[in-house]
Amino acid sequence: MSDQQPGVKAGTAKNSVGKIINREKSPSISFEFFPPKTEEAAETLFRSIERLVPLNPSFVSVTYGAGGTTRQLTHELVLRIRKTTNLTVVPHMTCVGCTKDDMHRIIGEYVDEGITNMLALRGDPPKGEDAGVFEDADFPYALDLIEFIKKEFPSVCVGAACYPEGHKETPNRLREMDLLKKKVDSGVEWLVTQMFFDNHEYYDFVERCRMLGINIPILAGIMPIASKGGMDKMAELSPGTRFPAKLLQGIDWVDDDSLVKNVGIQWATQQVFDLLANDVDGIHFYTLNRSKPTMEIHRNLGLCE
Ligand SMILES: Cc1cc2nc3c(=O)[nH]c(=O)nc-3n(C[C@H](O)[C@H](O)[C@H](O)COP(=O)(O)OP(=O)(O)OC[C@H]3O[C@@H](n4cnc5c(N)ncnc54)[C@H](O)[C@@H]3O)c2cc1C
Repeated sequence: MSDQQPGVKAGTAKNSVGKIINREKSPSISFEFFPPKTEEAAETLFRSIERLVPLNPSFVSVTYGAGGTTRQLTHELVLRIRKTTNLTVVPHMTCVGCTKDDMHRIIGEYVDEGITNMLALRGDPPKGEDAGVFEDADFPYALDLIEFIKKEFPSVCVGAACYPEGHKETPNRLREMDLLKKKVDSGVEWLVTQMFFDNHEYYDFVERCRMLGINIPILAGIMPIASKGGMDKMAELSPGTRFPAKLLQGIDWVDDDSLVKNVGIQWATQQVFDLLANDVDGIHFYTLNRSKPTMEIHRNLGLCE
């Protein structure tokens, strides 16, 4: 099939995400995708992208399997989005298990293709291992990757992850904020939060960041719940995430997964409405490669037809 998708314009204007978010008065909207494993899934994803383009996202990002498990697929998807759309595309880069030489080559390839924004992450240890496994690695933490990118590729605009409800490896919540500040001070221009379902967690986190002098944009990560099974998986992947009682009551109330989806969309709509009313820097939708929930949230808020 042709690289050019109907309704999705090819373009060359690629922007620095740091500047887009800082420059615009209105909050940025962004979408996250993961690399599809089959041709069929790729077509479904591109149909989703096509539907989401009119929402005019500031950027879209593409996840990367820790340890390089999806390196090629991520690379292919990033380049395909870049070549076939006008979207600013941001690859996630995880550094676990990667040598400096490999990382230099991978980032260099992106830069040669005109990709100038990256989300720098550490990734999780392999199943059954703890983070001690990274001690002698070239990149024990995302901080090491960020410093590396800023030294070797200073023109790249780097974003990083943050955790309003804490990250499992740093139970000391004061130390965690100091570590985040270190990461930001090494050259990060924007942050994206882990998903959360209670906006108070986000507001309090942003306030703690501002107290520490972390003044860059902090995009709120929103994931509409699509099914009970999906919610269990989220709880597993993101330990510490709080699922408010009212949300759980709404989900318990219905027993059909298609209705659970509606509850998830309604909940996320309320979250986004409240965030916009409170001058959020931006909203990052974890789309799971589907356009419908994100579109419905926009429609519910009168942000699209
Ligand atoms: C927005 C977002 C996108 C993500 N995308 C992906 C993806 O595409 N692929 C993927 O595999 N995973 C992804 N993840 C998951 C992420 O890789 C894991 O949560 C991982 O455990 C931490 O990554 P990090 O970049 O936050 O690491 P870090 O910032 O390195 O933090 C990891 C832990 O180490 C602590 N720490 C940091 N620096 C130090 C230090 N100097 N000394 C001691 N402790 C320290 C931190 O407090 C934290 O507990 C994503 C997460 C988020 C929030």
